Parts: sequence; structure tokens; C-alpha cells
Amino acid sequence: MSNEKLFEVEESPVALKSFLVWMLLAYLFALAVRYIWVDWASQFPDFFWNGQLMINTNDGYYWAEGARDILAGGHQPHDLSPVHAPLAMATAFLARWLPVSFETLILWMPAVFGALLVVPVMLIGRALQLNRVGFVAALLAGVVWSYYNRTMVGYYDTDMLTIVLPTFVLWGIILAVTRKRNRYMALTALLMILYQWWYPAAYSLNTAFLVMVLLYVLVFERRELYNYKLLLFMLLGLMPLGWMEDTVLILAAFVLFHFGGKRVNRLVWPLLVLAVAAFAWLGGLAPIWLQIKGYLLRQSVTGGGEGDLHFFAVSKTVREAGKIPFEIFADRISGHPAVFLLSLLGYLMMAWRYRAMWLALPMLGLGFIAMMGGLRFTVYAVPVMALGMGYLIVWFSQRLAASLAGESSQSNRMEWGVMLLLTAAVLYPNIRHVIDYKVPTVFNKNEVAVLERLHKVAGRGDYALAWWDYGYPIRYYSDVKTLIDGGKHTGDVNFPVSFALTHPQTASANMARLITEYTERNFRQERNGSYLKQMMQDYKVSDPEAFFAMLEDQEFKVPKKSREVYYYLPLRMMGIFPTVALFSNIDLATGNPRREPLFYSLVPLGQKGSKVIFGGNLWVDLKEGTMRMGRQTTRLNRLVAAELNKDGTMRLEERNFDPDSRFFLVYMKNYRRFLLMDRRMFESTYVQLFVLRRYDPKLFEPVILAPMATVYRLKK
Ligand code: MG
Repeated sequence: MSNEKLFEVEESPVALKSFLVWMLLAYLFALAVRYIWVDWASQFPDFFWNGQLMINTNDGYYWAEGARDILAGGHQPHDLSPVHAPLAMATAFLARWLPVSFETLILWMPAVFGALLVVPVMLIGRALQLNRVGFVAALLAGVVWSYYNRTMVGYYDTDMLTIVLPTFVLWGIILAVTRKRNRYMALTALLMILYQWWYPAAYSLNTAFLVMVLLYVLVFERRELYNYKLLLFMLLGLMPLGWMEDTVLILAAFVLFHFGGKRVNRLVWPLLVLAVAAFAWLGGLAPIWLQIKGYLLRQSVTGGGEGDLHFFAVSKTVREAGKIPFEIFADRISGHPAVFLLSLLGYLMMAWRYRAMWLALPMLGLGFIAMMGGLRFTVYAVPVMALGMGYLIVWFSQRLAASLAGESSQSNRMEWGVMLLLTAAVLYPNIRHVIDYKVPTVFNKNEVAVLERLHKVAGRGDYALAWWDYGYPIRYYSDVKTLIDGGKHTGDVNFPVSFALTHPQTASANMARLITEYTERNFRQERNGSYLKQMMQDYKVSDPEAFFAMLEDQEFKVPKKSREVYYYLPLRMMGIFPTVALFSNIDLATGNPRREPLFYSLVPLGQKGSKVIFGGNLWVDLKEGTMRMGRQTTRLNRLVAAELNKDGTMRLEERNFDPDSRFFLVYMKNYRRFLLMDRRMFESTYVQLFVLRRYDPKLFEPVILAPMATVYRLKK
């Protein structure tokens, strides 16, 4: 038996009608699995708004804002609403035509589109006359761990098509190299354009596909002229001109080669050389370099150079970047390490037998980059590895059925039985994951209620000052502008907001007015450097510390007020408040962090007399004002008990103990938690305005005082 025969899968042809029925089944299966989350989440009234479950990804609110503004027919200048983003446009389009609410639409779009992955996976199977392989692969790919996480119901993001589209591109390439027909090279190039229109970062994977086709041609089929035509078409699809121009070029080239007869074949080489030159000249290589640089050089402190300010880089707090262990990596790609290894084996067998499968290496490679580059890449390997698994399963079930039943009529039935049984086995860990993956909605309904009230109070040009995690939801529900958000949160823009949240009220108010007016000014005129640098230039200060000292002055002259600023201070921020503080807890001249602020949110485990116990080695005596931490007993500086009144204000009871102590303790009665912190955090605007509701009436006016969040208007 030759090697080729050893790895052979023999499939009898499947009629188109049956194929489409299988496809529909695979699609419905992917949707049905996604319903598991809906079923779980529906038991929580907190997850609902406007009678529908809310979405569960923060970035989703960004696209939703864009779609809402398209439907409304306009938006405010410089509010960063993505009205030209394909996802926002597609959503607005569907919202106009479908008889469902906007909330229902954005909740379900990711599932309905994401489950479409079964289509290109099955088409790849069919292109290789491996319909059963495609069917098994589609059942698996549609629900695999990492793919599910990013296309589940409520995960409203561009992810819903970022794997579907390159898998279609791969299908186009496989059709082209196996069939050698003009229509398939045009199809491939057009699919590449569609993918890149949807997702600009697709550029790298599209380029990798091009390089892969080139390698494939050089290794296997150097003499085929068709292959060079395919390369030419792919290059046209990649041309950095805009999707419309590229489409025109491709259609023109298609007409030329399809109707030009044999004599145009001599144009292939000159055109290819021309296209390569144009590609390089138009700067087609630059984005690739930038990407490589971005991933390889992960600096923790941005800025640098002499006399520059050194800010804190977000990547320091993002967990995604960094190496991941093999088991997690394998789980994400296949659901289980064993499934992963078998899939890899299946892929190698399949590529050995069908060399067109080598063309899938860019997706596989990008998925494997996750080992170094972060979890978000694993999804790219999912469809290819699923095809590998499908191949192995069909191959094995054929061998088994043949040896057990021979050529009898039982053989086919037995083959299906074994195939479905094995498929169920590899699906199992993935469906287990789906059941266990209980993701809450981004906000709960009480938080959204606060934002709805803010929407009624604030103008569309006003600003909400809030940490970047809340930027997109605030913009969606309140339709105000934000200073930082999920896409705008580099160290230099985070600094002023972090400063305003973690400093006392006077300095905070001055900074809030400054940063708002400077942000607006920067939209209108060209300025260089960070906002902070501009401010220091304008106030003629060269030392950041001297500038911050100036801000503590009540009489500090802020720029003229052009609009309102609202502080949005949620309970939710308590858990990340130390991280928020990091961004302004830095020596800007050197980039070195200062002494870490002290801030702990503690849940009491029990009480003994006047002692509140938080754990074996940590308790506080409320009467004596002492605290036991490990082996040390220290005194508290101050103890504040805060209880909510009906009108949202706080009734405060304060007791002073040792004025030299570092420790301030706040008991938040209604929340059943204690906050342990140092003086700096105690005096921060967030703690004063949210936790204690103690504001300087010359600087702030309370607008909304709800248990989940407070909103204050800046009076400066
Ligand atoms: Mg707006």
C-alpha cells in the first residue's frame, strides 16, 4: 500500500440537495448550542433592558453607537462614533429591514453570523470531494471553545465574521489551485477585498495567503501559467487603493483574461511585475512592518527621548499579552489537548493526501502564534484544525467499518454510526465549556438606568468623565462624549482621567476642566505631544510636579468652559480602583511608579463582639480602632460608617483614632463591605463623591445618586 493510499478517504459523491441539507443541519446545530447561554442568562432580570438581554462585550457598545447614529441620521462632531464602520453600517441596514428591536438585533447578530463558519468549512470539504469530512468539521468548528467565546449570543463585535471571511478566502484559493478556472481567481480576490473591508487588520492574513500561494506554486506547480495569474489577482485584491478601486481592477483583469483568448497569456508576466512594483510603491509593505514591530516591541512605558513625559502603558495591565501554557492553548483551539493533537495529526494526513491543504498554513500559523502573542489569535486555527479532525474521524470510521462489515450493505451505516459517535466525543468537551461559560452582561439594568437618566440631563456635546472601561456603554446609553474608551486609552490620555479620579476635589475639578477643553481643542487644531505637555507649555511650567501643585489651588485659572462635564462614578470601579490609580501614580520625568496606593475592598466573614473578622490574620476592632494584620497590631487613623439615606445621600458616622496612622477604614453598610485605604485614596474624588457622597458644593453638583453609581456635574 502506497503512502497516498494509506491516508486516503474515499467518499461517494453527494448530491447538492443533500449537501445543502447537511449544511443547514450544521448551521442549526451551531445556533442551538449558542442558545444555551440565552437560556441561562434569561433567569437574571438584572441582565435585561428594554425587554431584551443586554450584550456581553464592552466593545459592542462602540458599534452599537455607530449603528444608532446612522439610524438617527447624524451625530455630534468629534464624538468618535463609528458611523463608517462596516459592522455599524450592516447593523443599521438590518435594523431598517428586520421586524426585531435594535436590542434583539445586536444580541443575536454575532450568533447568526458567527455560525456561518459552517458554510466555508463545508465548501472546502466539497471542493476536495470530502463532503463528510466537511460536515464533521463544520459541526466541530462552529462550537469550538475559542470560536464560541467570540461568536456567542451577545458578543456583538467584528469577530462574528473575522474567521468566516478568511475561511471563505481559503476556499476560493483551494478552488482556484485545484480547478484552474478564471472565475475562481476573481472570486478569491473579491473575497479578500470583502474580508479586508470588514476587518482592516485582515491585511496581514491576506498577505500571508499570497505568500503561501507563491510558495505552493514554487514547490509544486512552477510551470502552470494559471498560478501566476492567480498571484496577480490576489495582488490586485491587496492593492492599498480602497475596496472600490481594487474591485474595478479585478473585474477588468477578469474580463481581459476570460475573454481575451490565448494571446493575452503573454501579458501575465509583465502585469505581474507591474503589480508588484505598484504594490511596493503604494506602500503595501509598510503595514506589515508596523504590525510586526507592534507585536515584537512591547514597551511598558510609552514616550521616551529626552525631556519627554513617561506615561504608563496599558499593555502592563492587559492579561492577554504573554505566553500561555500548552493546555489552555489546546483547549481554545480544539476543546481538549487530545482533540488538539488528533486534529493536528488529521491535518497532516489530509495535507499529505491533498496538497491544497498546505494553503491553510497561514491560518494555522496565525492561530499558533497565540502561544507567544496572546489568546485572541487561537480562533484562526479553529476551522483548519476542525477539518483535520473531520478527516481523521472519517478516515478512521471508514477503516473500522470496512474491517468489521467488509463490503456488505451494513458498511455504510456502520461508517455513519462510528463517524457520528466519534464526532460526539470531540464535541463533548466543547459543549461542556459552553455550559460552564457563564458570562454576565456588560452592565446590569440598574447601571443602565443611571445612564438613561444621564442621557435626559446631559447634552450630546457634553462630556462624561469616567474610566475607559465604561466609555463605550456610556456613549451608547447616554449619548455624551467620553475622554477615554475601549479604543482610546494610551498612557497619556489615561493620565488626566486617572488623576481626576484619584486626587482631591480641587485638583480633580481643575484637571477635569483642563482635559475636557484640551481634548476639544485638539480636535479642532493641530497640536503636538500629549495633552499634559500642551497644558504645561501653556501654563509655562516645565516640571510636572510644579504643575500638579498649581492645580491644588482653588484660584487656578482654567480655560473657558465650552460644555458641561459629568463625573460618572460607579460601584463597579471599586474593584479596579488600584489599577486606575496606577496611571497617575507615576513619576512622569522617569516613568518610575511611586509608592503604591493602598486600597482594599474587604468582605467581612464574621463578627466577634466589636471585632470584625476578614480572615485568619486580619481583623478590626471597631470600638478600639485597632487592626490586626498578620502578626502586627496597628491603630486606625479614622473609621467612617456610611449608610445610604432614601434620597441617595449618605449618613456618615466618623471616629478619629490615631492621626499618625496610615489606615483609613470605611464601612459601607448597604454594600456589606469595608474599604481599607491610605489618606490619599481616602481623599480621592472617587471615594469622596461615590463612597461618602461628600462633595465640595463650589465644585460639584450631584445629579444622580443611585446605589450603583453617582453622577456629579462639574461647576468649574
Ligand atoms: Mg453622540
